[in-house]
Amino acid sequence: ATPTALMVGTGRSAKMGILIKNGEVLEAANSIKTVVFDKTGTITEGKPQVTDIIGDEKTVLAIASSLENDSEHPLAAAILTKAKQAQIIPGAVENFKAVEGQGVQASVNGKPAFIGNDKLLADHELSSEMAAQMQQLQSEAKTVVIVGYADEIIGLIAIQDAPKASSAQAIAALKKRGLQTVMLTGDNQRVARAIADQVGIDKVIADVLPGDKADHVKQLQQVAPVAFVGDGINDAPALTTADVGIAMGSGTDIAIESGGIVLVKNDLLDVVRALELSQQTFKRIK
Ligand code: ADP
Ligand code: MG
Repeated sequence: ATPTALMVGTGRSAKMGILIKNGEVLEAANSIKTVVFDKTGTITEGKPQVTDIIGDEKTVLAIASSLENDSEHPLAAAILTKAKQAQIIPGAVENFKAVEGQGVQASVNGKPAFIGNDKLLADHELSSEMAAQMQQLQSEAKTVVIVGYADEIIGLIAIQDAPKASSAQAIAALKKRGLQTVMLTGDNQRVARAIADQVGIDKVIADVLPGDKADHVKQLQQVAPVAFVGDGINDAPALTTADVGIAMGSGTDIAIESGGIVLVKNDLLDVVRALELSQQTFKRIK
């Protein structure tokens, strides 16, 4: 590989908003066989919105917003926005604890409360009616969080985050090039599958704890070289582990630092363009 040819490749790409760190990255992109995507903020817009509340809306939002007030999770922002619209002011909490990949626990009015997925339920059980409502909402591609207060499950909040306009087209283009597409997410299997179906992704690995994303990338690498596309703090180890890490420009600083390629426009079609560019560059050099 001659440096000049590489410069041409990377210079042209930079004008398109595809930043490639060095020639090795561009070369590695040429042998990718599997493209793994994070869900939230990568395949989807990353702007989750509350769509449904099961239970007494005011009570559920009061407890939920109090719990989420100190959380930095994107789902927390959606809940706080909804509470504000309903003119509910989050109350003070004590003993706040964010549980990675699960949710938040704290005491509200001196009573234990939680919000998150079913991993946080411990010895609580959803009524069969609520379980059915939860499954229905999840199959509509909505993330559902459970709200518990004073030893009772008081409600459910459904949150939707729509796929980006170009995600389906980008996945189709990758598949046409013979690449395998995979979604890797901490969200629930049913929600993940529903979104994967909307955009045409082949394989779904769901319910993944943040610390386990890189391990899943390693497993996929045993079959063939892998590109990982992500944006979050918890995506950084997977971005470094992958043969090519591709970060969204809108992502967290640590994700951007961990990526060998950064997509300034946050458009998944630029994943396809980056792979094409690599192929063209290395075809020319050979
Ligand atoms: P992702 O891979 O989509 O970024 P995370 O690992 O951040 O997922 O979270 C996985 C799941 O944990 C969420 O879908 C949600 O059910 C639950 N969860 C995590 N943090 C929170 C929170 N602050 N409030 C409610 N639920 C949460
Ligand atoms: Mg994300």
